[in-house]
Amino acid sequence: MSDTPQPDDPREPLRQHLESLRSAGIEWLPREAGFVPPELTAPEPEPEPTPERPAVVALPVVPSATTAQTSLFAQPGAEQAAIPETVEGRLAELAELARRVADCVRCKELAEKRTQTVFGVGPLDPDLCFLGEAPGADEDAQGEPFVGAAGQLLNRIIIASGMRREDVFICNVLRCRPPGNRQPTLLEAENCREYLDRTLELVKPKVICALGATAVRNLLGIEQGITRLRGKWLKYRDFPVMPTFHPAYLLRTPAGKKDVWEDMKAILARLGRPVPGKSG
Ligand code: SF4
Repeated sequence: MSDTPQPDDPREPLRQHLESLRSAGIEWLPREAGFVPPELTAPEPEPEPTPERPAVVALPVVPSATTAQTSLFAQPGAEQAAIPETVEGRLAELAELARRVADCVRCKELAEKRTQTVFGVGPLDPDLCFLGEAPGADEDAQGEPFVGAAGQLLNRIIIASGMRREDVFICNVLRCRPPGNRQPTLLEAENCREYLDRTLELVKPKVICALGATAVRNLLGIEQGITRLRGKWLKYRDFPVMPTFHPAYLLRTPAGKKDVWEDMKAILARLGRPVPGKSG
């Protein structure tokens, strides 16, 4: 059987492209060039139906196996309450903070219309904290951040990066759903900042990945679009912050997945973690 491609052979354009590269002196292509893990390129699954949950759920904070000995958050001059020295002490303060959040009515409209507050989920001392802008309808119903279609895509990003959802901390700038999924206001973000800051102090992630322009704006006061911000390291207090696209944007614009993968590789490099699928 001849290997000579026929005119209608679907491989012909690829063959011609490779020939043109070869004639330009390019003999090989690195695997990483344009490589996006299959977890991110698979078709989006149908969203799972929202399960019935009680209006109040326990704070799902799980202690990690190890506890960092050095604080990442020492900030000369910054006001910061002492951090409990033990894991039990940090968990107890997080639970108390979650109770205060559940009763919070600082943002009148949000407090009146929420089903429940959405505090955050994950272990102490994680390498990574994903930070979104605010709970959506699924999160408001279930009391956990990133559980809808965007959350499922975030799970695949985490898995593609060689981690499990339970290895990372996930929370939002706001703990209450803005009605109609409108953007949170800066005042609402300021109202909720005390809770965010204390959560980060107690959880101690090494790196924050800020998801979407609204999260970056409300965290850092930067008004630039996420297309210009993503991929560049920023800083919130003493936390390194990598901005990237929000998974909800990726559901509408899958072409952005390769950019998110580049940002995840930068995060993995900073954390000293291997990049799954990278040869050599
Ligand atoms: S968003 Fe934050 S500050 Fe506003 S009511 Fe909810 S918990 Fe309170």
